[in-house]
Amino acid sequence: DLGLLRTKAVPNGDGTYRISGQKIFISAGEHDMSDNIVHLVLARVEGAPEGVKGISLFIVPKFKVDAAGNPGERNTLSCGSLEEKMGIHGNSTCVMNYDEAEGTLLGELNGGLKAMFTMMNEARLGVGLQGLSVSEIAYQNAVSYAKDRLQGRSLSGAKAPDKKADPIIVHPDIRRSLMTMKAYNEAGRALALWTAIKSDVAHRSGDDKDRQAADDYTGLMTPVVKGVLTDKGFDHAVMAQQVFGGHGYIEEHGMSQFVRDARIAMIYEGANGIQALDLVGRKLAQNSGRAVQAFFKEVGEFCEENRTDEKMASFTKALKKGLSDLQAATMWLVQNAMAKPDNAGAASTDYMHLFGLVALGYMWAQMAKSAQAKLAEGANGAAPFYDTKLITARFFMERIMPETATRLARISSGADTLMALPAEAF
Ligand SMILES: Cc1cc2nc3c(=O)[nH]c(=O)nc-3n(C[C@H](O)[C@H](O)[C@H](O)COP(=O)(O)OP(=O)(O)OC[C@H]3O[C@@H](n4cnc5c(N)ncnc54)[C@H](O)[C@@H]3O)c2cc1C
Repeated sequence: DLGLLRTKAVPNGDGTYRISGQKIFISAGEHDMSDNIVHLVLARVEGAPEGVKGISLFIVPKFKVDAAGNPGERNTLSCGSLEEKMGIHGNSTCVMNYDEAEGTLLGELNGGLKAMFTMMNEARLGVGLQGLSVSEIAYQNAVSYAKDRLQGRSLSGAKAPDKKADPIIVHPDIRRSLMTMKAYNEAGRALALWTAIKSDVAHRSGDDKDRQAADDYTGLMTPVVKGVLTDKGFDHAVMAQQVFGGHGYIEEHGMSQFVRDARIAMIYEGANGIQALDLVGRKLAQNSGRAVQAFFKEVGEFCEENRTDEKMASFTKALKKGLSDLQAATMWLVQNAMAKPDNAGAASTDYMHLFGLVALGYMWAQMAKSAQAKLAEGANGAAPFYDTKLITARFFMERIMPETATRLARISSGADTLMALPAEAF
């Protein structure tokens, strides 16, 4: 809770400040891989208002910078200790102590939270990509192992009769895992790129309306990209590890490292529970729901435009059902969360994943349309690539999209049972 922040900043009278306090869990807080380390530190200047309205942001370098811009005298900050962690051992997680360290105000006095969010929004999208990346590398390892490992015979008859057993990629349950990871990863990549394009438009477009619409979209989708892609990153690291059987549990193949490394992405840059609350509590209601309504309209129009295209029917039907579940969940929140905020909190994680399913389903429907168009043009020698896209899109719609109904059912059950037990009953 940043409102409780105690780090303080005292003006030196020359535009700089003396910063004193402690930060914990600071990634790469100390290392010797660069000439200098620039710390961004939130602190409260004496006499500032209580709570988050009295927080300012400061630049505090490890080495003070001389007039020529070179690192000079050592600043009075130090790493007190390093955390022992479950994973990401390539990253030093530091306790940082600031003992009247020299700092410079960044942005406006008492405007620290706003300044910090500029960095955090970008970092959240970056952590979403971290989740997606672990999911992809875990998947690639699982595919390679599944083609190699011989165990059991295919249910539909031997596929490698010259060998003592078939490779495990012939087994439907192994396929279930591989297809799930593949379908999520490719749609996740599309969603990340789609969001990156919107972010470029939000920053660079000369058209005010386009800029605003793209900014709305990026704000709405940031908690979804962060929360969903990192939850799935961990799920898929475990799923890929399972494909290895016992060889996934021992260290030799590196699968357990993916599991350990994927876990942090669900926690830092705001735990995923907080991402879900950001979506439900802030992003939905912002500007009277302008961003979410625009998203519903865009997906709805895509379904409508392709309604009469028979080849698209299986994709648009599933997407439309998902969208209708998402709209019903949104309406339920509008009607039930204002009077009883626990209903919003109880719904938040399911809502974030429901949103993710529709966003990823929308990506797949667009990719299916594009693949069909390419195949109709002759595919230029890449027909297997587009056929693979279509089958993966179908898998997503048949096997993953139906989860929207479960999410909606959970959301609309409300908070009563969830909150019924007194704390001592646990
Ligand atoms: C390895 C590592 C590296 C890190 N690197 C950095 C870094 O470089 N810079 C930096 O500033 N921070 C860093 N962090 C801190 C990290 O961002 C926080 O740990 C993270 O945001 C979670 O905050 P917390 O630990 O205070 O958990 P808490 O806020 O105590 O949360 C605990 C649990 O309660 C839930 N929760 C909390 N509040 C609510 C609420 N109001 N409603 C519902 N649920 C709630 C959370 O979702 C979570 O599940 C790092 C942490 C780690 C472990």
